[in-house]
Amino acid sequence: MQARIILKPGKEKNLLARHPWIFSGAIARVENAQDGDTIDVCDHAGKWLARGYYNARSQIAARVWTWDDAPIDRAFFRARLERAIRTRESLIDRDMTNAYRLVNAESDFLPGVIADRYADFIVLQFLTLGADARKAELAELIGELTNARGVYERSDVDVREKEGLASAVGILRGDAPPDLIEIRENNFRLLVDVKRGHKTGLYLDQRENRARVARDLEGSLRGKPSSSAEILNVFSYTGGFSVYIAAVNADARVINLDASRDALELARANMRLNDCETRGEFVEGDAFVVLRKYRDQGKSFDAIILDPPKFVHAQSQIESGLRGYKDINLLAFKLLKPSGTLVTFSCSGQVSAQMFQTVVFQAATDAQRDAQIIAKLTQASDHPILLAFPESEYLKGLVCRVM
Ligand code: SAH
Repeated sequence: MQARIILKPGKEKNLLARHPWIFSGAIARVENAQDGDTIDVCDHAGKWLARGYYNARSQIAARVWTWDDAPIDRAFFRARLERAIRTRESLIDRDMTNAYRLVNAESDFLPGVIADRYADFIVLQFLTLGADARKAELAELIGELTNARGVYERSDVDVREKEGLASAVGILRGDAPPDLIEIRENNFRLLVDVKRGHKTGLYLDQRENRARVARDLEGSLRGKPSSSAEILNVFSYTGGFSVYIAAVNADARVINLDASRDALELARANMRLNDCETRGEFVEGDAFVVLRKYRDQGKSFDAIILDPPKFVHAQSQIESGLRGYKDINLLAFKLLKPSGTLVTFSCSGQVSAQMFQTVVFQAATDAQRDAQIIAKLTQASDHPILLAFPESEYLKGLVCRVM
């Protein structure tokens, strides 16, 4: 007998609006389904609604593969992957950029599946049990469709615990990637450690913002009387923003500040690769501590970038997370020169754009700075936001100019 879940009365509403998640509380009854199985989703009267996968261990007990009554087989995944890949071909200028997201999970109707391209290699991440169950098939298909030299798995993410999954890392197909892959991003050269780096190696979601911020700063730094502008890139990781900014602003000096020595080493290598190492500085430390030290020393900067890690991982952490954002933004506002620029981000999905803006406003007020928002930023277009799934919007950025 077909595995299926029957929803409680009225609980089909979100699903009909094409939201792909079914919470355990919405389910009246489960029939013949084991964790990880493909299941049909039916309303209370037994009417067929969608097909997806099931995991009793997760609060999100089911996710939808499709709202069409079609089998979930190789042809299904091939069509989904082809569509996702085709979309990227229209979004990305592949002469300038060869590292980008090919599959963005729910936003591409492939819940739990992430695929990123880094030059000739594909890095896959499986976030859920139902997606993990399709690993072999998906790795093979994406290898074929992209002609990749190798497909590598980086399923070492905390969310897998909620699904009852251990982490998994290694080669799925073809050649092993080298320790560092050189990629091209908007014609900049960047080294990426796909085996040990954060996420799948690079914060691809910031690609468009790196270009945009470098351009904006060029405008605001031009005609400055001082010969060399001082930029502070806090949470620099491997120096993405620094490379763009130093390349576009020939006089700028950029301090990379990060807690990770490995990330800073790569930041240095990346600045060298783009002929701007001599204008880089590399400071290892805790941003909260180092910024306080700079404040006490009376240092100031023409521009500061704040791109911290996710502070909020669950609803229960919102308050403490917002305190973190406030603290760091307050320090940054204090460290800005007159008419300096603050570029500030939050990648916490649970913090809305409005909440984030309010916190940045409170930070400016406490620092006694007047500031204008000159741009609002979001994740790059290869990380699309599905209208029916607002949870897919997570990256928020504000470019503020102090008056
Ligand atoms: N802006 C980067 C991505 C930043 S990711 C880019 O465009 O690539 C966040 C970074 O913050 C990571 O490199 C991590 O090592 C660093 N980090 C986390 N906590 C930190 C802390 N308390 N102080 C300094 N760096 C920290």
